[in-house]
Amino acid sequence: MAIPLLPGDPHDEALRANVKPPGWVNPTPAPRYQLVVLGAGPAGLVAAAGAAALGAKVALVERDLMGGDCLNVGCVPSKALLRAAKAVAEIRRAKEFGITVGEPAIDFAAVMERVRRVRAQIGPHDSAERFRRLGVDVFLGEGKFVNEDTVEVTGAKLRFGRCVIATGARAAVPDVPGLKEARYFTNETIFTLTELPKRLLVIGAGPIGCELGQAFARLGSRVTLVARGGRLLPREDPEASDLLRTAFAADGIEIVRETPPLTGFDAVLVAAGRRPNVEGLNLPAAGVEMSDGHVRTDRYLRTTNPRVYAAGDVSSAGPKFTHAADAMARLVVRNALFPGSSGDVNHIPWCTYTDPEVAAIGRRPSETTSHFRVGFEELDRPMTDGTTGFIKVAAHRGRVTDATVVGPHAGEVIGALSLAMSNRLTLRQIASTVFPYPTYTETLKKVADQYNRTRLTPFRARLLRAWLRWFR
Ligand SMILES: Cc1cc2nc3c(=O)[nH]c(=O)nc-3n(C[C@H](O)[C@H](O)[C@H](O)COP(=O)(O)OP(=O)(O)OC[C@H]3O[C@@H](n4cnc5c(N)ncnc54)[C@H](O)[C@@H]3O)c2cc1C
Repeated sequence: MAIPLLPGDPHDEALRANVKPPGWVNPTPAPRYQLVVLGAGPAGLVAAAGAAALGAKVALVERDLMGGDCLNVGCVPSKALLRAAKAVAEIRRAKEFGITVGEPAIDFAAVMERVRRVRAQIGPHDSAERFRRLGVDVFLGEGKFVNEDTVEVTGAKLRFGRCVIATGARAAVPDVPGLKEARYFTNETIFTLTELPKRLLVIGAGPIGCELGQAFARLGSRVTLVARGGRLLPREDPEASDLLRTAFAADGIEIVRETPPLTGFDAVLVAAGRRPNVEGLNLPAAGVEMSDGHVRTDRYLRTTNPRVYAAGDVSSAGPKFTHAADAMARLVVRNALFPGSSGDVNHIPWCTYTDPEVAAIGRRPSETTSHFRVGFEELDRPMTDGTTGFIKVAAHRGRVTDATVVGPHAGEVIGALSLAMSNRLTLRQIASTVFPYPTYTETLKKVADQYNRTRLTPFRARLLRAWLRWFR
């Protein structure tokens, strides 16, 4: 199903002109491409642009909107909507800071108009025309494999030396009684709303359900959120889930474990997992195998056909985020076009942009030897801002193995930690780094100081005391 845009809306028309230009004429295929890219979401765009910049002959195939989920129905519109919801929450909190304002009047249609405007403004970056200018042959149409080294799109055959499958994923729709008859939305349709649903049921307590559930609650919907197992963001640290639950209660969100009868709601948002886009690709013709619904890849992101790679949400590797898709695409370009393979995209952080933000990085701490935690009550900036949160870090031999940050700007703090981890910095080095005061990045220093204190063994402490007794 094609992603719906609002007919006649100037912003959506501007978006369409960039990402699915009416009247686009596909080029005449080259006799052979060094790289054929299937799907023009973040993974496909980064792979195509990267390979073309290196001088490779590249074809990019997109069946719907260039930019994929991220630009059109994911990161961009959701973050634009969250921004409006945050403004509402700030106004409602104003009294706490000694400022009296009335209850904000929310013009939901205007909120959504801004969402569409922001999306259209970013559109040119992912446009078919921009990629053509980058030297990429852009084919609009559904791509499928014909054999092990050929893809077909709208009747044209594209022969390739290497191919990358970057066809992404879409919302999985669970088997809930009455859902088909109800007015239900997924991330593909929710951003076409122009009227606020009074009572909204959100099925799913992962990042998408939590972010959008909180946004709609703040914008005025009465939100009920289904969290099977009772936990919000069940993949995150339990303390993060608890803090979020408190925040959601303050926003008036009701959290339930079972899906209630749908008749009590004006709209239902399904955010209960994702399903990779593989149907119609004719993967068996190319000898590409699947694993647990995803395209199976090895640590070099190669599929079971050594000419074919997979990157982004469709691949069995890595977490499912835009920056992960970007990192995988870069790895694919390197591995597909040059001899010698590099493996494993390490240290991919992630963040859920609820209020408070919940960010994390690292593997689950199997070989971890020490744990450190700093609550935001120990820091000055959260106190001046009136915010709560914490940082938790697990370390092995003085190096961070994984971490969770909850609070404002958690995504930025985890980015700094990602830099430290990627460059194998020790907690000692983080402790000796100067961070501006008062900021949230100081949490890193505090937690590293905590680690440093554990290095002061009784023996070292005795030595230190002896030195100080002697020293005049
Ligand atoms: C509501 C929401 C909010 C999100 N927020 C964030 C966020 O804040 N930060 C973050 O990092 N991630 C976020 N994500 C996740 C992010 O959008 C995805 O991880 C990212 O888009 C994956 O990129 P991709 O290139 O793998 O796939 P996609 O973006 O899904 O792109 C795949 C493209 O392939 C095309 N395609 C499929 N089949 C074919 C075919 N046979 N032929 C040709 N083309 C085909 C599709 O039309 C699509 O355009 C969010 C997702 C959602 C749904």
